[in-house]
Amino acid sequence: MKKKRLKLKKPVWFILIFIIFGTIAIISYNKIHAKYEAENTIEYKLSEIGYTDKEINTLKKYYNEAELKSLLDKKKDENLLEFMNNEHYIHSNYNRYLTFMEENRTDIETAIEYVNLNLDYEYYEAPVKVDYDLKNEILVNKYYLLDSDFVPDDLIDVTNKKYFYGDGFKVKKEVWDAYLNMWNDADAQGFYLIVNFAYYPYSEHEKAYNKAKDNNGTVYADNNVGRPGSDEHTTGLALDIFAKGALTTVTFPESDAYKWLKENAHKYGFIERYPKGKEYITGQSAESWHYRYVGIDTATFIYENNLTLEEYLTYYKSK
Ligand SMILES: [Zn+2]
Repeated sequence: MKKKRLKLKKPVWFILIFIIFGTIAIISYNKIHAKYEAENTIEYKLSEIGYTDKEINTLKKYYNEAELKSLLDKKKDENLLEFMNNEHYIHSNYNRYLTFMEENRTDIETAIEYVNLNLDYEYYEAPVKVDYDLKNEILVNKYYLLDSDFVPDDLIDVTNKKYFYGDGFKVKKEVWDAYLNMWNDADAQGFYLIVNFAYYPYSEHEKAYNKAKDNNGTVYADNNVGRPGSDEHTTGLALDIFAKGALTTVTFPESDAYKWLKENAHKYGFIERYPKGKEYITGQSAESWHYRYVGIDTATFIYENNLTLEEYLTYYKSK
């Protein structure tokens, strides 16, 4: 059989060449275009300013696209990254951190600590809504004020004079049950605990505050009575505890009964709420007699980590 030779006519050659070059052109275009696209991403532009991939991921955790874009006109913001890499960084507080740092010339860590605890605000300046869902861990202080209609549930009357001096009082049942356990164990070890203050109704506090304000002005009333709703006793979860032989605010801090309470109260769900050295956080001078019920697990955690309720809620509970 005669072999057939493939003979291509000229126009066919042109078509073939056209296809080959056309393909090359398309591939090159796609490559260039892809490069162009990559170089147009925010990530690429941030890396051009000096941010590493890890840092870009950190930024993306907190910033939306518009905020990321706003970083492009500046040089790399090392401060911002140090903030974001701090384990206690709260993004919504960022501007307050900056203001606090500027006004107080502190470092980033201090700014984060103080602002997270609201300490950049004056007392009562910027009240935060109380989180009632926290139940036994509810936070009440000079930033978190209870609503005027707040009344704790499950209040009981304590009338047995064995347990208090002065008048009888109301307190939440769960708190009193826990207290009686503590009372019995303390008694067995030779400490006769005595309560002298417990539930403080909002309305009574309000009356006292208004009277002080009318007589001596707001500053005096704020400092000496405190705004209504700012007293932890209004939650029904706090007890002022003294002991036989140490019934005053002068003698109790020096007593063995206080030493016992300090080391043991958490086992029953109580914390020493206003410890020495943490006044700047609690907004209260040290009160070795003021105990707050939070439940055994929380009290133990707070005790073991040497925390205040403020620190516990800000740094551990909110995580
Ligand atoms: Zn108290």
